[in-house]
Amino acid sequence: MPKGLAVEETVAGVRPQVAAARNAGQAIGFVPTMGALHAGHVSLIEQARGRCGSVAVSIFVNPTQFGPNEDFTRYPRTLDADLAACREAGADLVFVPSKEEIYPAGSSTFVEVAGLSDRFEGAFRPGHFRGVATVVLKLFEIVRPDVAFFGAKDYQQQLILRRMVRDLDVPVEIVTCPTVREPDGLAMSSRNRYLDPEQREQARSISAALFAARDRLRTGEGDLDAVRSEMRRTIEAAGLSIDYATAADPETLEELRAPQAKMVLLVAARLGNVRLIDNMEVSVS
Ligand code: AMP
Repeated sequence: MPKGLAVEETVAGVRPQVAAARNAGQAIGFVPTMGALHAGHVSLIEQARGRCGSVAVSIFVNPTQFGPNEDFTRYPRTLDADLAACREAGADLVFVPSKEEIYPAGSSTFVEVAGLSDRFEGAFRPGHFRGVATVVLKLFEIVRPDVAFFGAKDYQQQLILRRMVRDLDVPVEIVTCPTVREPDGLAMSSRNRYLDPEQREQARSISAALFAARDRLRTGEGDLDAVRSEMRRTIEAAGLSIDYATAADPETLEELRAPQAKMVLLVAARLGNVRLIDNMEVSVS
């Protein structure tokens, strides 16, 4: 790709640029996003930069992954700042398609990762992962990356996308990058912008509950129900409404009855009309 940041709005504009980079022997790294970029996104771009000769980012607020009463229309859109962040983090190409570019009139093909998509986020946001899997497969077809970078922040999402590329033989390596947090532990999220100062303070309870649960499990707690109850208490005491706060198998996402060597703690909670998710992987010996 040429030096400097190329910004493309069309599939036809993206394809020759990635083809040129590939022909020049560069591996293509790809970071799909919905924009309103923060340090979490930047860490993904930097990891792509570290591993790949050429780095593409997409910014697309994907309508098919939002439910009818969700925040699609008010989702933050900060394109100028996002392009500056991409440039700063070392991206080569940013793909900023319109809705029509991604979903031409009459689009009727969707990707469904059955099973994994029905739990947790999928149960509370019907159709969400169908929208995610569909748009990510389309973006993979457009960019044809060698390596694609996703955040552990969206634990279930990366698991579903790993399953999708395995099941459909998509020739891309999925890399999952650690969750970037605010100094007080809150997982960075574009949706944190919705929080007023009081809610921002309340939101700390999610990561506080996760860290406390992890510590308790690491020091040998055998009663998972007690751990779950404590997570719920901490989050509810701060005034949030819980969608789920539990422990699951990190591969199957089956909810656990007892601790096991590897677990993932998963939380989704609402503060007014803001919905936040977070998770933490826990290993015990
Ligand atoms: P989004 O723009 O929310 O769709 O996120 C785009 C990518 O950034 C996804 O792979 C997310 O998992 C990842 N991401 C979002 N927040 C964070 C974070 N705090 N730390 C690391 N990755 C993140």
